Amino acid sequence: MAGEGTAQLEDEWSFVRKLAGRLRQENAILIFATLVAAFALIEGIPTGIVFWIWAIALVVALIRPPLVERVVVSSQAAPAPVDPEALLRTVFTGLSALDMPVLIIDREASVLMQNAAAEKAFGGFPIGAHISSKLRSPGLLDMVRETMTTNTPNQIEHSERLPSERVYIVRIAPIDLQRAEVEAGTFFLLSFRDISELRHIDRMRSDFVANASHELRTPLASLRGFIETIQGPAKSDPKAQQRFLGIMFDQTTRMSRLVDDLLSLSRLESKSHIAPDQKVDLVPLLGHVRDSLLPLAGDLDVTINLHVPAGKAEVMGDRDELVQVFENLIENACKYGQEGKSVEVSLLNEPDQAVSVVISDKGPGIPAEHVPRLTERFYRVNVEDSRSKKGTGLGLAIVKHILTRHRARLIVKSEVGKGTDFTVRF
Ligand code: ADP
Repeated sequence: MAGEGTAQLEDEWSFVRKLAGRLRQENAILIFATLVAAFALIEGIPTGIVFWIWAIALVVALIRPPLVERVVVSSQAAPAPVDPEALLRTVFTGLSALDMPVLIIDREASVLMQNAAAEKAFGGFPIGAHISSKLRSPGLLDMVRETMTTNTPNQIEHSERLPSERVYIVRIAPIDLQRAEVEAGTFFLLSFRDISELRHIDRMRSDFVANASHELRTPLASLRGFIETIQGPAKSDPKAQQRFLGIMFDQTTRMSRLVDDLLSLSRLESKSHIAPDQKVDLVPLLGHVRDSLLPLAGDLDVTINLHVPAGKAEVMGDRDELVQVFENLIENACKYGQEGKSVEVSLLNEPDQAVSVVISDKGPGIPAEHVPRLTERFYRVNVEDSRSKKGTGLGLAIVKHILTRHRARLIVKSEVGKGTDFTVRF
């Protein structure tokens, strides 16, 4: 019962609040009525008539439609004229955050608006100038002209050489502002989808296939040649046959090394997004790698000196993959730095929790122009030198893949005539 009473009281209060609100909205009428009543009193008109003037003003104030409704009705009746450029600007503000270069041009192909990405990519179009002030490709300008006449979207591939080599898919489409007073085909949106990265990956993939087939074809061709010789001219020459079989054995070993490295790379690629989750102590691991390379180092007359701190040096990693990294780097240092006679492998616990392993040789070093490309597949400073040392050109590509998966970096410092340092930083 008490609840019902409260609800009723609230209803009454809300009615009074609404009434007060209405009266506040209509206070111009009430002020006017009060002024008329005051004037009537001064002029000596009887109070009864004054009361009626007031009462009529009050009723008028209450039964008129509310002010807000009146404003809405009047705006529907006469829409405000649209400024097409202002409307475009509002739409374009949303595109300014896009990382794809975008321009709005008019029917004369003059630039009206450009986003920050377009300014950055093309060095800023002068507003009001024809697009040819920055885009000179005849194919692209023809496409723009065609869209202006047909009013249909179009696209073309376009490359820019400056400030850097980039390939874009340029698309043009008429903008429909969905306003009767702005004709479709008054403005056009020109967008530039950057496909340079895709092209680069495509080129790398086809180079890779070409390189891999070339690397396999060379030993295969030599094998075939030796088989033909053994079947023909050397048919009854056991000494020559023995020599040829030795070379054939080396060629098949080279092919299987290459296939192993290719499989390693493909396996690594397939799990590149999974971070390793074992704890690996690098101290015993480096000792194991050094021991496994002692026969090779002995053959090359190189000493491997290992410098590790006392205690552990743990990193998150995959043990087998880390063995592969250090085997590749130390083997390279022994092979390519052979003339320096010694290879230093140092494990450093750095102050910022980082762990570094530096592999230094005192060999001929690597000319600076080759250093940035060393981790590319099949990249070799000297192809013949690499082949003669049983290289496949894939070792450092494998190292880079493994380190990327381990969130570690490979830093190469080399000085021609002095030697090379490969640093792995975890
Ligand atoms: P490869 O199988 O040819 O050894 P890698 O990918 O391991 O392939 O190395 C790529 C190239 O980098 C080598 O062919 C060699 O020219 C160069 N290189 C690697 N390590 C060294 C080093 N320590 N000193 C000089 N050159 C090196």
